Amino acid sequence: LEVFGAYDVAVVGAGVAGVMAAVRAASEGARTLLVEASPFLGGLVTGGRLTKPSGVVNGGVFAELLDRCAERGAADREVRRSYWGAYTGSFDSEAMQRAIIETLEDVRVDVLFRAPVVEVRTEEHRLREIVLQVKSGRKSVIAKVFVDSSGDGDLAALAGVPFAIGRASDHRVQPMTAYVRVVNVDIPRFVEDCRAHPDDLSDLVVPAGAGERNEDYILNFVATGFRKRIAQAQAEGFNWIIPKDHITFKSGLIPGELNLNVTRFHGNGLDERVLSRAELVLRQQAYCAFDFVRRYVRGFEKAIFLEVAPKLGVRETRRIIGRYVLTEADVRGERRFGDSIGLCNAPFSAHDPDGDKSTLESTGNGYTIPLRCLQPLRLSGCFVAGRCISADEVAFTSTRNVPACATTGEAAGLAAAFCARTGADTNDVPLIALQQQLERSGVQLGLHGEVLA
Ligand SMILES: Cc1cc2nc3c(=O)[nH]c(=O)nc-3n(C[C@H](O)[C@H](O)[C@H](O)COP(=O)(O)OP(=O)(O)OC[C@H]3O[C@@H](n4cnc5c(N)ncnc54)[C@H](O)[C@@H]3O)c2cc1C
Repeated sequence: LEVFGAYDVAVVGAGVAGVMAAVRAASEGARTLLVEASPFLGGLVTGGRLTKPSGVVNGGVFAELLDRCAERGAADREVRRSYWGAYTGSFDSEAMQRAIIETLEDVRVDVLFRAPVVEVRTEEHRLREIVLQVKSGRKSVIAKVFVDSSGDGDLAALAGVPFAIGRASDHRVQPMTAYVRVVNVDIPRFVEDCRAHPDDLSDLVVPAGAGERNEDYILNFVATGFRKRIAQAQAEGFNWIIPKDHITFKSGLIPGELNLNVTRFHGNGLDERVLSRAELVLRQQAYCAFDFVRRYVRGFEKAIFLEVAPKLGVRETRRIIGRYVLTEADVRGERRFGDSIGLCNAPFSAHDPDGDKSTLESTGNGYTIPLRCLQPLRLSGCFVAGRCISADEVAFTSTRNVPACATTGEAAGLAAAFCARTGADTNDVPLIALQQQLERSGVQLGLHGEVLA
């Protein structure tokens, strides 16, 4: 097999976790390749339009990317509060993509797009080589250390690491959602409608001082609800085909832009038939939601359907089993692990694998993520980062959030660069040195009673 290249660190998957890992590894001097199946960077936070991190972004590269966006007026850098806790404001997905490209170029990461990893080679439980399906055929990449930030844990699973999927009882997972972007909304008029129906809303965040201009609501408006309105429309004969009874609206960078979280599709995100069906059905649901708001919600009379997010919003697939499995009790107990790689206050964000319920629940002052959750069981030469880290089904509902994924990516990149440079085993990383470097990058480890705010 032709070798595409030999690297110090190869990162698989360019979502938020993979981008953090690649930037961090390269800035430590590692020759780094970032391999991505799609033709864009950022994964769900750009292509899925998931632009509102739940929980506070804990320093590091992601905070720097947000600063770059904010300098262009394309991110809200205020820490805001909701009933489920403190969180970092939202950003624009294309501004984020631009910031990611600039940063990857600054630190000289090689990027290979349209290159899904389809096979791996291990020697005595050590990951040595990955095989990519690229346009010209199959090629391999050799690296001293790999990071599996594929979201699905493809690399670790191909290497034979055990994994869990979904609920312990039946392995069913959280549903998929495609975000819907609508423009030319009269947001002040929409806010009037929300305020006139407080009993039909479960969340309403209107920026202080916002008035009659769409510009007053850029990047910082959220509303959730409209259960009664949907029921009323159905009673009048409207064909609501969506298996969910409420809508979340959040504003974007374009004046009059609202992003709708409303679609829902239940199924296994590792099954190609399910994934293809989801792409079709979620689009039909998106058109249905648009027809509904145009007809029944004030402010949408002249709204224009801009897009369905290009990357399918798969919430949950594999959770790779690591040297430690983070548990619900750890998160609820705000546990502080000695091998913390970062503090996290992302809420439990759970969507019912069967029905239409979803819950957001605060994780209080936050818990720490142990390095062992990034170290896959019985495998060396590889760290996992992002939503596939080692956690139980409930802890996962917190660690899947963007701030947690960014934190694990940062630590994985740093640890990978260290192992590549020194030859240290990935299961035997000198902890104090890693933690000191993370702290120097502004990451709060949570070992000194810190609270993210
Ligand atoms: C609908 C929805 C709503 C959400 N809402 C919120 C929210 O409000 N707040 C919040 O904080 N979080 C939210 N999340 C969660 C959060 O967005 C994701 O969990 C997080 O962005 C995942 O980041 P990641 O880097 O782990 O994975 P991803 O962003 O999925 O990136 C993985 C990358 O790996 C690539 N890849 C996959 N397999 C391979 C392979 N074999 N070879 C090469 N490349 C591969 C993919 O193409 C992708 O680019 C939401 C998620 C969804 C789906």
